[in-house]
Amino acid sequence: DNPQPKKPSWIRVKAPSGQGYADTRNIMREHKLVTVCEEAGCPNVGECWSQGHATMMIMGEVCTRACSFCNIATGKPPEDLDAFEPGRVADAVQKLGLNHVVVTSVDRDDIEDGGAEHFAQTIRAIRHRSPKTTIEILTPDFLHCAPEVVEVVVAAKPDVFNHNLETVPGLYPEVRAGARYFHSLRLLQRVKELDPTIFTKSGIMAGLGEDRQAVHQVMDDMRAADVDFLTIGQYLQPTPKHHAIDRFVTPEEFAAYEKAAYGKGFLMVSATPLTRSSYHAGDDFARLRDA
Ligand code: SF4
Ligand code: SF4
Repeated sequence: DNPQPKKPSWIRVKAPSGQGYADTRNIMREHKLVTVCEEAGCPNVGECWSQGHATMMIMGEVCTRACSFCNIATGKPPEDLDAFEPGRVADAVQKLGLNHVVVTSVDRDDIEDGGAEHFAQTIRAIRHRSPKTTIEILTPDFLHCAPEVVEVVVAAKPDVFNHNLETVPGLYPEVRAGARYFHSLRLLQRVKELDPTIFTKSGIMAGLGEDRQAVHQVMDDMRAADVDFLTIGQYLQPTPKHHAIDRFVTPEEFAAYEKAAYGKGFLMVSATPLTRSSYHAGDDFARLRDA
């Protein structure tokens, strides 16, 4: 095992507690829903759940990819898609009374459309039950699917279409081996071409070994693909088997990334050590909409 750098003081995580946290957890259990907050061991779970904000993960708990930073189980998914899942997600969103929901999924390379129709159904089900809730999806890359599948998702009109580039292109072979940087970038660009009213969003992790110049290049690539929102957060190693942390990026460096990103024309940027792609997504979006 690699000896990992010690956690600095700015990575502090409150233990989850409180009524809001318990209520969110109960509703998720009751609806047999999986959250990325728990599966990925997100450090913000206490804060987010106590405020009734959560990221739901659809299409099962087993991913057909195996990104080296990710704690989701990988392998051959044991089950087909659950046709009742979109309804259960919509029900939970309504019960939680969310203003903004983030829905993500595992990668399902075993399904012909990669789950595009399932995403679309989930968006429509939420919209039907909670018309005022803004919907953010964080999708797989649909790398092995026909290019048209993205049209199915876009036609369901999510408010925000997020797809994370995760890291700089030079680190793809070791961090995101099953994916292709330019394919992911093109996916984001395609969404905007198909429907310019949908906000597009992407993010990367810092501290995996990337250098500053490469991060700036990624920002420029995203802007060239018309990406609106950007998130950058510190990578945390979920278990010793996962990709090692190269270093802890300082809060000052994150602030410099944020400033540079606004300078490049992103509409909304979150770059802090504890930023996750869904962290405060609702608040940020509401602020932008009301501006
Ligand atoms: Fe869940 Fe996102 Fe909050 Fe983490 S930041 S607890 S994944 S909603
Ligand atoms: Fe994790 Fe997503 Fe990679 Fe699957 S595709 S291993 S869920 S990051």
